[in-house]
Amino acid sequence: MSAKRRSWAEPFRIKMVELLKTTTREERERAIAEAGYNTFLLRSEDVYIDLLTDSGVSAMSDRQWAGMMLGDEAYAGSANFYHLRDTIEQCYSYKHTVPTHQGRGAEHLVSRLLIKPGDWVPGNMYFTTTRLHQELAGASFVDVIVDAAHDPADPSPFKGNVDLDKLDALVERVGAARIPYVSLATAVNMAGGQPVSMANLRELRAWCDRHRIPIVHDMTRVAENAYFVQQREPGYADRSVASIVHEICSLTDIATMSAKKDALVNIGGFLAMNDDDLYRRACDLVVVYEGLHTYGGLAGRDMEAMAIGIRESIDDHHIRARVGQVEYLGHKLMQAGVPIVQPIGGHAVFLDARRILPHLPQEQFPAQALAAALYVDAGVRAMERGAVSAGRNKDTGQNYMPKLELVRLTIPRRVYTQAHMDVVAESVIEVAEQARTIKGLRFSYEPEQLRFFLGRFEPLAD
Ligand SMILES: *Cc1c(COP(=O)(O)O)cnc(C)c1O
Repeated sequence: MSAKRRSWAEPFRIKMVELLKTTTREERERAIAEAGYNTFLLRSEDVYIDLLTDSGVSAMSDRQWAGMMLGDEAYAGSANFYHLRDTIEQCYSYKHTVPTHQGRGAEHLVSRLLIKPGDWVPGNMYFTTTRLHQELAGASFVDVIVDAAHDPADPSPFKGNVDLDKLDALVERVGAARIPYVSLATAVNMAGGQPVSMANLRELRAWCDRHRIPIVHDMTRVAENAYFVQQREPGYADRSVASIVHEICSLTDIATMSAKKDALVNIGGFLAMNDDDLYRRACDLVVVYEGLHTYGGLAGRDMEAMAIGIRESIDDHHIRARVGQVEYLGHKLMQAGVPIVQPIGGHAVFLDARRILPHLPQEQFPAQALAAALYVDAGVRAMERGAVSAGRNKDTGQNYMPKLELVRLTIPRRVYTQAHMDVVAESVIEVAEQARTIKGLRFSYEPEQLRFFLGRFEPLAD
């Protein structure tokens, strides 16, 4: 009980700092125009508080940095690989590990290994790179997340859950033989960092066993999911986050990981699994695209930092402070009446751009415009998660128009202070108050794939 009344203060202290540049409003107006109103194309130097992503931007611990000095840079059989493999088996339960340069490297391998052209891959909401690799391998993605996930105001505690009726409907339509796996993300990024419950995961496990379909776990934010299980799900309050993480993983068959998120490193990822035969096939493929099966595109020192980061990431005190900081920012915005996705997610606060900019139709990319306006106000860099990110349907060429039109304020782990969060909140509140002055955007350059990364825009006239 008393722990609830105590602050989420960080279980670390600061040993080194990185100085930031401050810019004027005029400089920022010029910078965002030069960047084609896309925050991905800003120079990092021109940003004051960088909430573009939580990917690869965590502060490593002194122990991780010490681990970097223990890099065994042998081409084959690096000691750091074995340390990483054993850590993954102990913390995440998976028997085999194939390192990859980051998460999408693992997604590429698993999609090629398991998908045949014409297959269907159900998942609890799409993720940009995940869906693209599934499509490039010849599959069509089918969203099977619960309906609540598409409603930013729905306060349900487990909006990442899979809707088993939607899975039944898909089997009825295409047959289980055309479904190579269920793609299950924990702490679903595109839904706003929303968790999956253990009860739902166990039901999904039983469903998949009945249909002989494996579960591929996108475990990029599994520790944040486990924290929400501990906080919200009956029967888990006395369990450690580490033990919940292990239980989640043990209910799945295969995993892809972007270690740049939960696992507190600047680069790295892996594909993990229990099946011996699949592991052999993954080793054959990784040497083509990433590197030998004992380094997969990573330096030995990177694998060492990852092994140490994994253990730090599942510590109760770490994860409580990490999510606590995100919730601190979210509560400030809620108190000021700014519409955000609820409940507040594990890695980010998502602004509901539809409600902040009701004067802009979705075709004018309100979330993209809001992210640009936020940067101009105080140098805070956020990113669009709406129609621009959703892209176009690969068969019809039509723009996807997702229900969620969001701006993501993503909090790096162990990087910013509470005072930084106050500055962010003040800026968001100010911009939201003057939202009517924000103009819509149109593409001046639209890339074919993952257009949110490199797309350029221009403001529409009044
Ligand atoms: C970041 C991310 C990925 C892709 O990982 P990269 O390391 O960026 O290649 C996959 N899934 C989710 C949910 C992610 O957040």
